[in-house]
Amino acid sequence: MTTDVLYGRDAYLRSCDAVVTAVTDLGVVLDRTVAYARGGGQPGDTGSLSWPGAELNITDTFTDRESGLLVHQVVGRAPEPGTEVTVAIDWDRRHTIMRTHTALHSLSGIVFTEHGAKVTGGNMEPGGVARMDFELEGISQEFGREVEARLNEALARDVPVRVLFLPREEALADPDLIRTKVSLIPDHVDPIRVIDIEGIDRQADGGTHVRATGEVGTVRVVKTESKGKANKRMRIALDAP
Ligand SMILES: [Zn+2]
Repeated sequence: MTTDVLYGRDAYLRSCDAVVTAVTDLGVVLDRTVAYARGGGQPGDTGSLSWPGAELNITDTFTDRESGLLVHQVVGRAPEPGTEVTVAIDWDRRHTIMRTHTALHSLSGIVFTEHGAKVTGGNMEPGGVARMDFELEGISQEFGREVEARLNEALARDVPVRVLFLPREEALADPDLIRTKVSLIPDHVDPIRVIDIEGIDRQADGGTHVRATGEVGTVRVVKTESKGKANKRMRIALDAP
């Protein structure tokens, strides 16, 4: 009962028809969906689930660890299994998250290429704010401003952001992907989904991103702080498009 995650191939789908395959205590499971299940630092989508005569709000989308099912959390009485429904996402919220996710990848590519620092963690919030942690000994406001300038330069080049599905063996042999610990991806995952931001960053990733960096707009580094030895945090915020 695996859900076909249409957003993995096309992040710009706003709605799709689907069939309810199960209803659990946590929510509704569909045969296919455009709603992103939270993970990899990206929040789950919100939106609506509708069928003749009814419409429910989707308040979160996530994978239930216990069952492995992709669940749409809804408010109200869920439709019966077998019901044909339409699932739609809150597009403006999601598109902002796609811009944010693309900005974070670009940021990690720049900090690695120019300062050799790997990412130790990261998280996005709806509304265009995010944080990313780096394996850096020190961080300063000046460093933040410098990275911000380089990031905006890179984004303004409007390079394509491609979704690739690489055979596992090929992905494991790619030096750019080794850096982002592609080897930790479970053995059964083949091919491996890779987000390639031309000339800026390349990493295995399950999230949703925009088509080209110009769509991100401009980004500000709003805070730099130490989170411990060799762990320094940058907070970013997107400017309005
Ligand atoms: Zn990512």
